[in-house]
Amino acid sequence: MLIDSHAHLNDDRLYSIIDEVVEGYRARGVGAVINAAYDIESSRRGKILADKYEDCYFTVGLHPHDARLATAQIYEEMKALAAFPKAVAWGETGLDYHYDLSLREVQRREFVTQIEIADSLKLPVIIHLREAYEDMNRLLTENKQYLNNGVLLHCYSGSGESARDIYNRLDCYYSFGGAITFAKHKNEVLKYIPQDRIMLETDCPYMTPVPFRGKTNTPALLYLIRDKMAELLRLTPDEIEKITTDNAKRFYKRIK
Ligand SMILES: [Zn+2]
Ligand SMILES: [Zn+2]
Repeated sequence: MLIDSHAHLNDDRLYSIIDEVVEGYRARGVGAVINAAYDIESSRRGKILADKYEDCYFTVGLHPHDARLATAQIYEEMKALAAFPKAVAWGETGLDYHYDLSLREVQRREFVTQIEIADSLKLPVIIHLREAYEDMNRLLTENKQYLNNGVLLHCYSGSGESARDIYNRLDCYYSFGGAITFAKHKNEVLKYIPQDRIMLETDCPYMTPVPFRGKTNTPALLYLIRDKMAELLRLTPDEIEKITTDNAKRFYKRIK
């Protein structure tokens, strides 16, 4: 079975047609979907989906875009949701200096706050990182004591050298999505990452893989990312499926 390690069935576009989406990915061999949160409403929806579908799991957390919306009350509600057995990680949190939708200092402050909370709950952390590699390296190094339960860099777009020199040292996992099917993606990064640290994700409804660009993404298209990764690593699709599923189960300890 395939595991979609980072999806947003909690997004309106998919949530509004959820039965159809679930049926679609089950028919394509996806056996578990992690619905990553980005704010309080998506955290709540993740829990609702996990209650309804046995193969749905969820995370809680506040995206760097929305770091400016952080309040103690939001974090308290997220902590309460994280106590449910199908809550498998904290995130997505991180830094995004491409869009800068929250002030950078606010993004950094809320990222550190969230990794402290995740550590107190013994949950792994899902990191969203874009154009903020130096600050992320510094924050992870300075706060290493909060990273005892696993770190996943989702939709990793950093360099192979950064992976080798920094993130591998911090024992990070990496998930790859539709971007690896794009012609301009720098796929050599995969050579720097140990095979027991890679996972597959769709990040749906975003990042639709080739040849379905322009359409809404769903976990039913995860097989295209598996097949592309197999081609890039010169392995079979079955081998990639086994490797990435084993990795996802090791990282998200609560997945059955
Ligand atoms: Zn993200
Ligand atoms: Zn995402």
